[in-house]
Amino acid sequence: CGIVGYVGAQDAAPILIEGLGRLEYRGYDSAGMALAGKSGLKVRKVSGRVADLAADLPARFKGAPGIGHTRWATHGEPTQENAHPHTDTAGRVAVVHNGIIENADELRAKLVADGVEFASQTDTEIVAHLIAAAFAAGASDLEQAVRQALRQCVGAYGLAVLDAENPDRIVVARNGSPVLLGIGEKEMFVASDVAALIGHTRQVVYLDDGELASVTATGYRTFTLDARTTAKSPSTIDWDV
Ligand code: GLU
Repeated sequence: CGIVGYVGAQDAAPILIEGLGRLEYRGYDSAGMALAGKSGLKVRKVSGRVADLAADLPARFKGAPGIGHTRWATHGEPTQENAHPHTDTAGRVAVVHNGIIENADELRAKLVADGVEFASQTDTEIVAHLIAAAFAAGASDLEQAVRQALRQCVGAYGLAVLDAENPDRIVVARNGSPVLLGIGEKEMFVASDVAALIGHTRQVVYLDDGELASVTATGYRTFTLDARTTAKSPSTIDWDV
């Protein structure tokens, strides 16, 4: 339902909690976040409110980049296991997702046949395992692995991906569910709704359907599922209106 991400020199967790709080008005049943760092991924999630997630974060939940989510369940009950982010079996990539993967049953069956054990009932977890499978099949970078995973998915998504092996970036994708980038000073934000970025930046880039972005602290690159680079220009938000 709601996505927020941060990459830069600040600790992501408080920024994500604040941004998720600004998306609460949309409704949700659970919340979670992940950080990527040298020691791998850290993931926390709760079946409950953003305030419960904030209270649940250990003191060592520091660093960036990070991604956060408020979930409105479509596939699986609103439990802690089904809250986002979802990870692959090795705990290398973390995914938050708004929307519905329509061919989830078929993709899940294929992954199970390949020996993948699922930790949740969600359609979203499939994307994490597909990205891991793309790496296992030789994808050379996170952007390629995400493109290969999403080419297999039918449906609507706005999503954000963290990779413990590329802890300098967030990869996002949009198809039928909004995603935008917020441009800061040596820091970048991603979100599903501009409300999450209030107070952080006025410069935003809205992704189009079928578009992805690779976002680091110092910039971003946008491209399509078939790796064509796209040209984007930022828009300026007037928060006073
Ligand atoms: N389909 C996903 C799920 O049920 C995402 C729902 C959402 O948009 O929050 O977990």
